[in-house]
Parts: sequence; C-alpha cells; structure tokens
Amino acid sequence: MDVIVIGGGIAGVATAYQLRAAGHRVCVVERHATVAQGATYGHGGTVLPTPLDVWFGPTFMASRQNAKNGVINKAGFNGPARQFVKQLAALQDPNEFGHQYGLLRPLIELSRETMADVESRFGLEFEQTSGLLYLVRSPQEWELLRPAIGLLRLHEVPHHELTPAECAAFEHSVRTEPEFAGGVLFDQERTANAPLFAKLIKQALDTQGGVQFMQGCEVSAIRLDGQRASVELAPRPGAGSTTARSREVDVVHADAVVVAAGHGSLPLLERLGLRLPLHPLRLHTLVAPIAHEECAPHVAIVDAVKRIAISRMNHRLRIAGGAVLQSAGQVDKPLGEAVTKEALALLGQATHDWIPGAARISAALSWEGVKLLSPDGLPVVGNALHPRLFVNAGHGPAGWGLACGSAKLIADLVSGATPDVPADTLAALRPERFR
Ligand SMILES: Cc1cc2nc3c(=O)[nH]c(=O)nc-3n(C[C@H](O)[C@H](O)[C@H](O)COP(=O)(O)OP(=O)(O)OC[C@H]3O[C@@H](n4cnc5c(N)ncnc54)[C@H](O)[C@@H]3O)c2cc1C
Repeated sequence: MDVIVIGGGIAGVATAYQLRAAGHRVCVVERHATVAQGATYGHGGTVLPTPLDVWFGPTFMASRQNAKNGVINKAGFNGPARQFVKQLAALQDPNEFGHQYGLLRPLIELSRETMADVESRFGLEFEQTSGLLYLVRSPQEWELLRPAIGLLRLHEVPHHELTPAECAAFEHSVRTEPEFAGGVLFDQERTANAPLFAKLIKQALDTQGGVQFMQGCEVSAIRLDGQRASVELAPRPGAGSTTARSREVDVVHADAVVVAAGHGSLPLLERLGLRLPLHPLRLHTLVAPIAHEECAPHVAIVDAVKRIAISRMNHRLRIAGGAVLQSAGQVDKPLGEAVTKEALALLGQATHDWIPGAARISAALSWEGVKLLSPDGLPVVGNALHPRLFVNAGHGPAGWGLACGSAKLIADLVSGATPDVPADTLAALRPERFR
C-alpha cells in the first residue's frame, strides 16, 4: 500500500519505519525543514515510563501547590481544562491507577522490543545510558508513591528501593542534607537522545529507500473517499498568489493516512469530525553546563513527584519538566514571562535540591514544547472514522519510547495483521473511545 504519515516527530518517523518494514511505500509529510523539531526535540531523556513517572496516578497533581507537584496550573476557570484535571484526578485512586497502568503495560513492553530490534538491526548509538534514580522528598510523598511501587512488584519490574544513605552511596552527587525519604533505582531502565534516535532512523530509511520525506510541507486537510485517502497541502509561503494558483490545492493521494502530528493532530482530526479531548501541556527544558565535575551525577536523577528528570549529556545536564497547564486556546500564544520564569525556576530548584553544585543554571539554555496528554493517561493509537485512517498521537510527556511500540501496532493494523498486545489494551487505546 501507499501510506502517508503526517508528522516527522518520533511517532511519525517510527511509524514510517515500521510501515516500510511491513512492505508498504511511505510518504512522511513534515512542516518543518527537518525531522524531530516538535516535542521530540525537547525530550528529557527517559526512554520508557515506569509506574512512577506515567503522568497519572496518586502522585500526579496531588498537591494544590504548583511548587510541590511540579505542574503549574494556569487554567483558571476554563471549563474544559478543569474537566480534564478532574478526569485525571479520578486516576489518583490506587485501583483506577493500577487498572489503567495494567492496560498500558503491554504497550510499554512492545515498545521495548521494537526499540531493541531497530537498535540491533542498525547498530544505533543514540547516547543510551543505563540507570535512573527516582528520589522522594518526604514521608508523605513516599506514601503517595506506594501504589506505584506495588505495581512495580506486581508487574515484576526490576527495581531497588533505597534508603537516603543508600541513594547517596550509589550516586555520590545526591546530597544527604536536609533529610529526604528515599529513592527507587532502576538499573535496567535507561535514558537516551530522542531526536538523535529519530534522525538516525530517518537516515537508515533514506539509505534503504521506500520512504519519501516531504519536509517543509504542511497538511491542511485530510480527504477520505471510498478506498482512497489523500492529504491537501497548505500553500508554501512565496509559492505565488495569482488567483488561479490560490484556487489550486496540492493533493497527495495514497491508500491510507496515519496522523502522527503531535499537537497538530487535533485540528486535522477535528475537521473530519473526531474531537479528541486531549489536553496540551507545555513542558520546559534547561541545558546547563556542568559546574563541578565531582558534583555531577553518573545516572539520571528524577524528582519522582515533580516529574523533573535530570540526565547527563557529555559536559552538560539536561533538566526537563516544569509543566504548565493552560486552557487549550492559549497554547499557541507565547507564555508570559512570569510563568516561564516560574516553570524554569522549578527546574533550577530541583537541580539545586538534589545535586547541588552540579549545574551552572545561570548559563543554561531553555526550550519549551507542547505535549498532548489524554484524560485517561493512555495514548491514542489505532484506526479511526474510516478504514483508511489511523492515529498515533497523545503519548504524553513520557511518550517517546511508547511512540515506537505504537508505530508497530499501527503498521500491523494497516497491514491487516493482529497487533501483539491484548485486546483490552487495543480497545483502551482506540481513538474513538472518548465518543
Ligand atoms: C520538554 C519536554 C520533555 C520531554 N521529556 C520526555 C522524556 O524524558 N521522556 C519521554 O518519553 N518523553 C518526553 N517528552 C515527550 C516526548 O517528547 C513526546 O511524547 C514525543 O516526542 C512525541 O512525539 P510526536 O512525534 O508525537 O510529536 P512531535 O515531536 O511534536 O512531532 C509532531 C510533528 O508533526 C508535525 N506537524 C504537526 N502538524 C502538522 C501538519 N499539519 N502538517 C505537517 N506536519 C505537521 C510537527 O511539525 C512535528 O514535527 C517530553 C516532551 C517535552 C516537550
């Protein structure tokens, strides 16, 4: 089949890879001049989510104070945003949390397998580093974390619960004063460079052939008729504006379309009549030079409740998190200076709290990006509305590894094969589940 993939982030590139591997011809349409320029660019490093850092559950927005829960809530009285928070709050119940994580678990394992397969096939090096140490501040936070730790045991996820002294003995950079509650070490999980991974896969596809990348092209609409699917391209700036030209629309035809356009997926699907209740979250990164080598960590450090990840990249530290929740209508507008400062301060403070002296925050470069989060915590993956339309989006702020397993699932569905996840997981991911 000829398949169009809209979006050149990790979800789109991984989908193109899996479709090509299944024997299809693929065209990726990306509005930027190159791949991995959206949310994929700003990744915090963690590859696959554990129950401790999925963006739902007992620790997610557990406190009303922004500084304590790591999410700055600027939604005000916006109805849909409040409804979104309310729906996610229902997943703070340990049973609901366990049920939802159980549905996600097979996708995590599929993602692990598909990434390992791609890596070994091409011998990819994308700054993989083993080890993540999740740190917990207070006994109250540790209590909130208990259901997640229970899930680690239930699903036999390799981990070690550490006392503060054991944390400091394992990772010399972690401060011991003032007291904190402890940590959870995942020595088999890892961090890596998401945009580099996406670019290496694109490079492999360019060499192999069978995948065309239309970069600098924006899809303005999707058309679905009978057995065909096509996309309309927005006129390129400077492409001429004679009356005849402006009436013409460039259309690319195919047998199927996969929407993997991150935040840009929503308007494209809405025009077809599928309104997804996914909410945009704005996330921040700081890339700071290492201040004192002896204070720098050798494993990634994650503030477990604030969901702030600090990972090392050569002579720098990447600090990611500082989520801002706004009304969806505000997300295309620049964030005010004060809120940006507040978000970046969360990142700086977490770094100072856990690994003082490690980073020169005053010399850090900042970046921000938008990620879609769904009200039930699960991504949106599968067929929708028409036999030839598929969606791979909404993976949330811990989603780049998941996007790779979802890509395999989409390729199976496009090919008419049965995906390698249980039927209840498949149903829980369906784009039309919110209707
Ligand atoms: C600051 C930050 C830190 C993060 N940290 C982590 C982390 O540590 N671990 C983790 O797993 N995840 C993390 N994430 C989330 C992760 O980056 C995303 O889940 C993942 O990259 C999503 O990939 P995507 O391809 O769906 O979206 P994107 O990377 O946003 O890609 C979508 C692409 O579609 C293109 N597009 C949109 N609309 C159109 C259109 N109409 N026509 C053509 N092209 C279009 C865009 O230009 C973009 O390139 C983080 C995200 C952010 C922002």
